[in-house]
Amino acid sequence: MPLSGLDIYKLLPKTNCRECGFPTCLAFALSLAKKAVSLEKCPYVSETAKQALEAQSQPPIRLVRIGDDENKVEVGNETVMFRHEEKFHHPAAIGFIIEDSLSDEEIKRRLEAIRSLQFERVGQPLKTDLVAVKQSKDAKRFAQAVSLVTSLTKSGIVLMSEDASALKEALGVLAGKRPLIYAAGSQNVTELAKLAKEHGASLALKSESIDGLTELAKAANETGLTDLVLAINTSNANAKAIWDLTQARRLALKKANRLMGYPVVAAMPELNSYAEVIKAGDYIAKYGSIVLLRGFEPWAALALLTLRQNIYTDPQKPLQIEAKLYPVGNVSEKSPTLVTTNFSLTYYTVLGEVEASKIPTYILSVDTEGMSVLTAWAAEKFTPDKISDSLKKSGAEEKLTHRQVIIPGYVAVMSGDLEEKSGWKIVVGPKEAAGIPTFLKNLS
Ligand code: SF4
Repeated sequence: MPLSGLDIYKLLPKTNCRECGFPTCLAFALSLAKKAVSLEKCPYVSETAKQALEAQSQPPIRLVRIGDDENKVEVGNETVMFRHEEKFHHPAAIGFIIEDSLSDEEIKRRLEAIRSLQFERVGQPLKTDLVAVKQSKDAKRFAQAVSLVTSLTKSGIVLMSEDASALKEALGVLAGKRPLIYAAGSQNVTELAKLAKEHGASLALKSESIDGLTELAKAANETGLTDLVLAINTSNANAKAIWDLTQARRLALKKANRLMGYPVVAAMPELNSYAEVIKAGDYIAKYGSIVLLRGFEPWAALALLTLRQNIYTDPQKPLQIEAKLYPVGNVSEKSPTLVTTNFSLTYYTVLGEVEASKIPTYILSVDTEGMSVLTAWAAEKFTPDKISDSLKKSGAEEKLTHRQVIIPGYVAVMSGDLEEKSGWKIVVGPKEAAGIPTFLKNLS
């Protein structure tokens, strides 16, 4: 069980010296119990107390790093069951499985396909993170394939093999790359854990049951290896796999079971693209930390990356863009000017429609603390005063010879007041962004 604030307090110096930034040792202890502060902030903790408290200050789900320092992928360190309780911290890593039985040319072609899977959505770059090389030939071919992949990608590497001698050879070409080895079972956990420790790799553990995973984690820990990942059986029906994923997280967070306190990897079985995306989507939504795919379809990658972006966005901080006047296309002093909010999704939806219209236009994004149009209007963050102020501060008056601004149709009710406050002529635009192209064409 985790220590309570009072348990921790008993281990602290109780001098209330304030050097940790808290007014009392008790306040510090309560904050440490909530994992809101690090133990290092108190310079006076005794060695004995430190040992007892260090375990407390560890995250309930270990942070595991894959890849070299420049291109590292971090998974784990999650603290809540549901994102609205706080947020999910480290987005599920998405990777692709490449078999070593493929020709070098085909491996190169697939890596090129993976490299092209880069998208931008609501101003954020989206890309996949890992490449998994799966052994199906001998140790020499496996090491060759790993070497080829490593020379052509900066993504983190997963070594999919249970053969210690093949892994040893492959690890030899991955110095400093911190790969993930997938996966050890009860027959080889000690051997692979020692190998992983020796080469600075992390190790996935594979078992049919939660109890089996616990036993494997215990055996791996005994070798001194703590960078572990739990592999779930994705051949099971989705409901069973999601049950296992949920149990693993509950045990780690609610029961402080340290042997379950590791990120979870789900490697997809052979499926058609649609079934694979559905299964992978379930795992991204429910506690999968790493999802390894077999398909290379761009639409599938985009769907999963979008889902991941939505799930791992901080629910308390909507994605926002800078509030300012944005020129779209080859604008002039006569270009129309649309007003919207600085909620990323709203802005990029409006931007997409303006671009589709091919009419150079200014978009004035008003600071509404990341709220969409109607929410901001209801919360009094998108008011005539705010819009007038934004118009003044944006430099629109210097850039434009006209004094006409288009507001979203949903807030038509503010037109009179806004016209009076800003001195600009107000034109009511369409309610939905989809109506913008036709609206702009009819305006000109
Ligand atoms: S620095 Fe340590 S001793 Fe001083 S108030 Fe904070 S917890 Fe107490």
